[in-house]
Amino acid sequence: MEEQIIKDKFIGAILGTFVGDALGRSFEGASPGRSWTDSSEEIEKAFPGVYTDDTEMALILTESLVECKGLDPARLAMSFARGCHPERGYAWGAIRCLEAIRQGVAWEQASQVVFPDGSFGNGAAMRVAPVGVFFHDDLSQLRKAAREQALITHCHPSGVGGAILQAAAVAVAARAEPRERPQGEIFIEAVREAMGDIPEVYFRALDEVEALLSSDPEPAPAEVATVLGHEVTAPRSVPAALYAFLRSFFSFREAVIGAVALGGDADTIGAMAGAIAGAYRGVSAIPEQWRERLENGERGRDFAVTLAVSLFDQWKHRQEKKNTL
Ligand SMILES: [Mg+2]
Repeated sequence: MEEQIIKDKFIGAILGTFVGDALGRSFEGASPGRSWTDSSEEIEKAFPGVYTDDTEMALILTESLVECKGLDPARLAMSFARGCHPERGYAWGAIRCLEAIRQGVAWEQASQVVFPDGSFGNGAAMRVAPVGVFFHDDLSQLRKAAREQALITHCHPSGVGGAILQAAAVAVAARAEPRERPQGEIFIEAVREAMGDIPEVYFRALDEVEALLSSDPEPAPAEVATVLGHEVTAPRSVPAALYAFLRSFFSFREAVIGAVALGGDADTIGAMAGAIAGAYRGVSAIPEQWRERLENGERGRDFAVTLAVSLFDQWKHRQEKKNTL
């Protein structure tokens, strides 16, 4: 694949997270839309371009991958803890976990401060896009990095598994030629292979994604939300985001609008669908009027693009080193 296309995909995954999160934030807690498109005008009108915790953590993760030339969980944990602005809509569990890290609790233990078995929320999946693109060509590193970044806040096997599934979906999207039609079953098969051994619940959910994609007539958002979920738990939201991407892979806009139309945890489902769609189609597929409306302060849109380019440069550097060995 041409280098420019890969670069476009890196930026697409990061900005796709940002756009999906910002579009979904006004619909957090909403009921599913009556159809996939009837709320699209409403969704676009309510688009303030302001991101939430999903994007804040994805940006910190990207920055950390660049600075550490890979994933260093101890340093990443401290960066998450220092960079957290609770007003961005963090879950209370995440806030307490990050507080514990700031107070000196080891990152390996912090996520058990709140839930002894660890959280299985979707917080580790929502931010994982940079891992997905950075390791798209190295699946064992992809799984390792997705797991380690998850353990910091979501050490329950389903919390970790959701992050690995989402990273795998972003990686498979990044590996695909953007013009190639990703037939649902072929894409899902590649994701199954890339995600390796994660909890059984995700394998069952992927079967349901496939069944919904081939069901005729197409199911309404409410039915998809019932079958796949739209909740804050990872098993009940990560597969839903993948479905939203696959039913509209031809259009970044429709994939994200569809994800937000599921309601519920709309910012995170939007962020995850946006990450996959952005990694598949590249940043140029994100509507320009949406990109223009993104907040652009100190850690806003331009910062996000610069970081994504640095991550791409770091990836390229790794390739060059591999090739000279
Ligand atoms: Mg959020």
